[in-house]
Formats: sequence, structure tokens, C-alpha cells
Amino acid sequence: MSEALLVVHELTKTFGGVTAVDRCSFEVQPGTITALIGPNGSGKTTVFNIITGYLKADSGAIRFRGDPIARPRPAQLYRRGLSRTFQQARIFPDLSVEENLVVAAGYSWRQLFGRRVSESDRERASTMLQEFRLESLAHLQASELSYGQRKLLEFASVLMSDPKLVLLDEPTAGVNPVMIDTMEQHIRQRHADGVTFLVVEHDMQLVMRLCDPVIVLDQGAPIAFGTPEHVQSDPRVLEAYLGA
Ligand code: ADP
Repeated sequence: MSEALLVVHELTKTFGGVTAVDRCSFEVQPGTITALIGPNGSGKTTVFNIITGYLKADSGAIRFRGDPIARPRPAQLYRRGLSRTFQQARIFPDLSVEENLVVAAGYSWRQLFGRRVSESDRERASTMLQEFRLESLAHLQASELSYGQRKLLEFASVLMSDPKLVLLDEPTAGVNPVMIDTMEQHIRQRHADGVTFLVVEHDMQLVMRLCDPVIVLDQGAPIAFGTPEHVQSDPRVLEAYLGA
């Protein structure tokens, strides 16, 4: 097996008296679409927030591309090839769709409005618009997009950094079935292009057809790991989900 792209080692995070993440360890291998699933409150979001630098762990270690990330900061990780999306898509509502993509390539607003964006990055934004079939919306203010379109734009924006690993936080939650298909196709396409994914998703049908391996968290730590078929038939997983 090749070296893991991401290693999470014994992460722990407490909030007051609640242990949200409890000596949690797992790895994400390059070239996978790895799912991180588990019942509500099992610690998925907290793990995501720690990996991406939005929360500080009480203890534990993370390695990305072989290097420890001691005090991860979102912008620094973004530049190193680790990007994420959010349950509620984070885009710049006052910028146009196209401008959102340009900013995501690493430009400040001042550079954007000073028209100091390189021709090649403008072209990349334009290609991304085509690939995501967003050309007709390019000059629309992002605040005017539908919920699903915002999620699509956020995903396209994240790809502007040319990431090695993308953490997707519920990419299809609250979007219509057509948009679920669209999102799935884009994830598959980028995966085929070499991007690795770690996905938190509640749509189990999507997880089972898209992801391998699947990590199941319960009470802040993995209780099962393996192929979708394997974890689905694991009695500990059924118990965690059903409280059986
Ligand atoms: P999941 O994403 O799997 O639903 P979370 O990571 O959101 O789980 O939450 C794990 C546990 O940590 C839950 O018991 C939740 O109530 C608690 N928790 C998460 N964030 C906070 C916070 N900011 N303050 C207090 N408790 C929190």
C-alpha cells in the first residue's frame, strides 16, 4: 500500500464535558474516495474542522503528504493542496460566479478589481465554468444562485487551487435529485483526474455507490472500516445507527 495522503492519529477534542472526538485514528489513501460516516453527533464535523484548521485538537497528530501539520491554518493548507467544502456552501455572495472562481485561484479582491489577474488564471476560470456548465451564470451575482448551484460553485472554486485532497462536507445535502447526479458526476470526474476525496455524506445510497473505503465513526472514534459491503453488514455499525 502506498503512503497515506492523510494520517489522523489519536485526535481528541472535548467541548466542556463532551468528548466529541475520542482518540480517533484513520488514514486516507491516495486515489480513494473515502467516506466518513456515522450517526448524528458522532464527531464527523469536528474531525473535519480539526483537519482543516478551523478547530484545534486537545491532542493527537495529523500528517498530510508525509508532513506533520502541527497548527494547521486553512489558507496554508489550501496552498499545500488540502481544500474543503462546507455544509452551507461558503462562497462570496457579492461577487459574480466567475469572480468567485478567480478569487479561489488565490487572488485578493484588490488584485481582482485592479484587473491584475493573469490571462492563464482567467482561462482556468473560464474552463471551470464550462466544465461545470456554469457559463450562462458567469456574470450573475453568486447570491442569486440556487442552493444547489451554490454548492456546485463552491466545489468548482475549491478545484481552482488544484488540490490533492478535498474534504466534502455533505456535498448533496438539501439539493434536488438532478443536482445530486450532477455533483456525483463531477466528483467521479475529478477522482478520475487524480484528486482524492474524504466525504461526509448522509445519503447512504450515494456513499455505497461512490465511496470505498468507508470509515464509520461512533462517539468520536472509528468502529468500522472497509468496503461499503463490509461496513454495511458489521453488527457494530447497525447497533450504532439503530441503537439496537
Ligand atoms: P457530527 O458531525 O457527526 O454530527 P459533531 O462533530 O457535530 O458530530 O458533534 C460531535 C459532538 O460534539 C456532539 O455531541 C456535539 O453536540 C458536540 N459539539 C460539536 N461542536 C460543539 C461545540 N462547538 N460546542 C459544544 N459541543 C459541540
